[in-house]
Amino acid sequence: MTYAGPRAESHAQPDGRADTGEYVGRFAPSPSGPLHAGSLVAALASYLDARAAGGRWLLRIEDVDKPRSVPGADRVIMGQLETLGLHWDGAVIWQSARDAIYQQAFDDLAARGLVYPCGCTRREIAEAGAAMPTDPASADGERPYAGTCRHGLAPGRTARAWRLRVPPGVVVFEDRWLGQQRQDVEHAVGDFVLRRADGLWAYQLAVVVDDGAQGVTDVVRGADLLTSTARQQVLARLLGLNPPRVMHVPLILDPASGLKLSKQNHAPALDLAQPVATLNQAWQALGFTALPAADPAAFLREACAAWVRRWRIR
Ligand code: GLU
Repeated sequence: MTYAGPRAESHAQPDGRADTGEYVGRFAPSPSGPLHAGSLVAALASYLDARAAGGRWLLRIEDVDKPRSVPGADRVIMGQLETLGLHWDGAVIWQSARDAIYQQAFDDLAARGLVYPCGCTRREIAEAGAAMPTDPASADGERPYAGTCRHGLAPGRTARAWRLRVPPGVVVFEDRWLGQQRQDVEHAVGDFVLRRADGLWAYQLAVVVDDGAQGVTDVVRGADLLTSTARQQVLARLLGLNPPRVMHVPLILDPASGLKLSKQNHAPALDLAQPVATLNQAWQALGFTALPAADPAAFLREACAAWVRRWRIR
């Protein structure tokens, strides 16, 4: 599959989405370790949303961040999904094998003057950013890039990263779980990185290019990525792609620290010996009552019916 450039928008709805009636969802784990209770919530929600809509559910291994990828974790994740009955459609794709398609999208933006080299070090970015106002909508206190290199590298500086020249404007979108969201990407985030100082493609570029290339219509994922959505929509539109609809589902927090459950804060391994109990734990985190079911297939049938009722799909 290649990045085919701007898509035809002849059947576009008022929000710019081509209405083919087809649903394509995806689960896109980063293989930095096995799935844990938190990532399973996102997997289950995106699976159910796709199945409830009679759509396809793709699996994409987001190993673009090579240093953070743990060898073998991709296979472990695939095994966990299979054991839990979360079977995906079609071939799995690995981002690490897709340099050429990201390069193509990057070149397309560069040819239109939309990217520029940035010579700032991490420290300079932090120092310049500290003087910038934070976005009140950004709970994580993220500071915008100050735009230091926007008008050219200072004499003697060399390019480290490459950034997108973010156009002005407020991005408004409807999150199916959280309601209407808005972000002024230029001011809240600033020109963000497409190619990192270590030469790797940034998550933001890879995710937008892949969702576009795979024809993804619906992204269902954890709420930690809510603040990435507006910049992904900006980038998608610059690449002539229709941004997918989004739903950001609740995160499971570590009871001790109150932080997002993650491998870093020692999330316990999923109990695959009791797959229905494990699925029910994720299901309850989504606000539903536990379902008594004999096996994962029976659980998923029931959960899918409940999901259809909850979201009035079909
Ligand atoms: N790879 C990302 C993660 O595991 C998810 C990306 C996405 O769903 O857009 O956090």
